[in-house]
Amino acid sequence: MAEPLIRIEGVCKRFGDFAAVDNVDLAIEEGEFFALLGPSGCGKTTLLRMLAGLEVPTEGRILIDGKDMEGIPPNKRPVNMVFQSYAVFPHMTVEQNVGYGLRIDGVAKDERAQRVQEALGLVKLDGFEKRKPDQLSGGQRQRVALARALVKRPRVLLLDEPLSALDAKLREAMRSELAIIQDKVGVTFVMVTHDQDEALAMACRCGVMNKGVLQQVATPSDLYEYPANRFVADFIGSVNLFEGKLVIDETSQALIEADGARVWVDHGVTGATGGTVWAALRPEKIELSHREEGGHRPPVAAGTPEGANMLAGTVRHYSYLGSETVYEIEAAGGRMIKVLRSNVRRYEDRGFDYDQPVWLSWSPQSPAVLLS
Ligand code: ATP
Repeated sequence: MAEPLIRIEGVCKRFGDFAAVDNVDLAIEEGEFFALLGPSGCGKTTLLRMLAGLEVPTEGRILIDGKDMEGIPPNKRPVNMVFQSYAVFPHMTVEQNVGYGLRIDGVAKDERAQRVQEALGLVKLDGFEKRKPDQLSGGQRQRVALARALVKRPRVLLLDEPLSALDAKLREAMRSELAIIQDKVGVTFVMVTHDQDEALAMACRCGVMNKGVLQQVATPSDLYEYPANRFVADFIGSVNLFEGKLVIDETSQALIEADGARVWVDHGVTGATGGTVWAALRPEKIELSHREEGGHRPPVAAGTPEGANMLAGTVRHYSYLGSETVYEIEAAGGRMIKVLRSNVRRYEDRGFDYDQPVWLSWSPQSPAVLLS
């Protein structure tokens, strides 16, 4: 396999006794759109700044294109950074802003004009060459900043919360635009964000960080479907967590005896029987059905142990969100469970009302079993 473009090996960054980045190993491939994701203060910006050369690792090393970056200043690295504030020079026109770095590098006028034009075309700002930043919208200014970074043809573009200064609607529109631009130019993007929706929507792979430690690196769908631990399960999307003891653990199935629920999964769990585990169940993977005195129970998969993968509950609250409805269901012991129900099939189906008794049920394929 080809050598990854970026290799981060055992990198730590300490500020006094505090480890902002703690022993991170990570490889990023050429052409990837990679997102570093995590809550505020988790160390993602510090890691990005070490890639840029703005911060020096306390331990470990960073290789870009096979070359150790130790002692190499920011302007000599094959990277370019787009900052959160997407600062552009207010007194310069769009084309002067975009061409600025090339002028400093002494690129000849003709080539400069051609590359500026090319970069503006990429970010769809042709025709805006002579405008000043105050004659542009927030999204257009953001694209000027992007063009200014891309015009230098870096191997890696580092983006620090690139959309956070934009309003919600524009941010959403820019997500796909940025992903399309990345795909077109094929430059490796490393983006820092605390917004999980943003990371999942844009990146090929994400690294989730917490307290300086890289928790998991995976594609967006693998992070969602196969979270490595409770932190990731909870940080990515919404989840119901059942803490319990592992009572059967065979290669093909496992049973978790949780507080008020039995969770049967059709895949073995690598953990000692009797140990504490967590079953993570996404709200959209739970079925809701009417529960009546003497009525039928919902069907369960063949082989399901008695009483497993089913709970009696009562609707306590719901939020209608157009395409879906989110229910808060109270199960035995006062435990609240979140269920998301798509409204696609809702013709003549009026859903469930407050205080209505319901069954919750799920497939043995649905829960992810977590050991920590
Ligand atoms: P945010 O999303 O809020 O920017 P982050 O995940 O990017 O957060 P970092 O900026 O990397 O977090 O900071 C990680 C931790 O390191 C924080 O607790 C921060 O206070 C601390 N830190 C960062 N820079 C320094 C510094 N120069 N001196 C001391 N502590 C620092």
